[in-house]
Amino acid sequence: MMEQNEVLLEIRHLKKEYNSHTVFRDFSFQVHKGEVVVIIGPSGCGKSTLLRCINGLEPIQGGEILLDGKRVDPRDKSITQVRQKIGMVFQSYDLFPHKTVLENIALAPVIVQKRQKGEVQEEAVRLLERVGLADRKNDFPRQLSGGQKQRVAIVRALCMHPEILLLDEITAALDPEMVREVLDVVLKLAKTGCTMLIVTHEMAFARAIADRILFLDNGEPVEISSDPRQFFEQPQSRRAQLFLQTFTYG
Ligand code: ADP
Repeated sequence: MMEQNEVLLEIRHLKKEYNSHTVFRDFSFQVHKGEVVVIIGPSGCGKSTLLRCINGLEPIQGGEILLDGKRVDPRDKSITQVRQKIGMVFQSYDLFPHKTVLENIALAPVIVQKRQKGEVQEEAVRLLERVGLADRKNDFPRQLSGGQKQRVAIVRALCMHPEILLLDEITAALDPEMVREVLDVVLKLAKTGCTMLIVTHEMAFARAIADRILFLDNGEPVEISSDPRQFFEQPQSRRAQLFLQTFTYG
C-alpha cells in the first residue's frame, strides 16, 4: 500500500446537473500524487460524468475541482492550460485515420505544447517501446488491432506529460483476447507512480491495481476502501454487496 503523498486532485462539494437531472449533489473526494483510484458502480451512477468534469469537459453547477491547486472549469480562460496536465483515454481511441501512429502521438505535444518535433518523436518511440509497439510507429490506425490502437491512445496521452491520467472504460470495446494486453500496460504504468483515476468493469484488474476503490451509486460515494481485497471479498455497504454479486471475478 502506498504512503499518503500530497493531494493532487481535490474535488470539493461538486454539484453536477444535466437539465433537471442531478448527477452529483455534494460530492467531495481527493486523489494523492502517485495514487491509483478505481471508480466502480452501476451504470448511470456518474462515473463518466465525474471523469468528464475532472477533465473540464463539463460545466459544473456548484463546488470546485482543483488540480495541483488550479481550478478546472471549462468557463475559465486558463482551461486549455490546465487541461494539458490531464490525460484522458476513452473507450473509443479517436486516432486520426489519415495520420501514422507516430504522427498521432506527436500532434498535440508539437502543436499545443510547442515542443520540438524531433524531441517529441524520440519520446514517442521510447513510449511505444514500453507498450510493445515500436515497430508499428509508421503504421496507420487501420493496420492495427483494437488493443494496439488503445495502447497507442495511452501513449498519446502519456506523451503530453500529464499529472493525472483518466481512463474511462478503456477495454470495454475490445475483443476479450485484447483486454489483457491493454490492462498489462496500465498495470506497468501504475508501478511507475503514474497518478490514475480509472473507470472499469474489469473487477480482477480493479482489485490488482487500485490503491483505493471508490464505489459510487447515484452520485454518492457509498463506499471508499483503501483495501481493495477486503472491498471485493467483504464489501461493507449493502449496495456494493448487491453490485458485486452481478460480477464473477477471480
Ligand atoms: P456511468 O458512467 O456511471 O454509467 P454517466 O456519468 O454516464 O454514468 O451518467 C450519469 C447520469 O447522467 C445518467 O443518469 C445519465 O443518463 C445522465 N447523463 C449523462 N450524460 C448526459 C448528458 N449529456 N445529458 C443528459 N444526461 C446525461
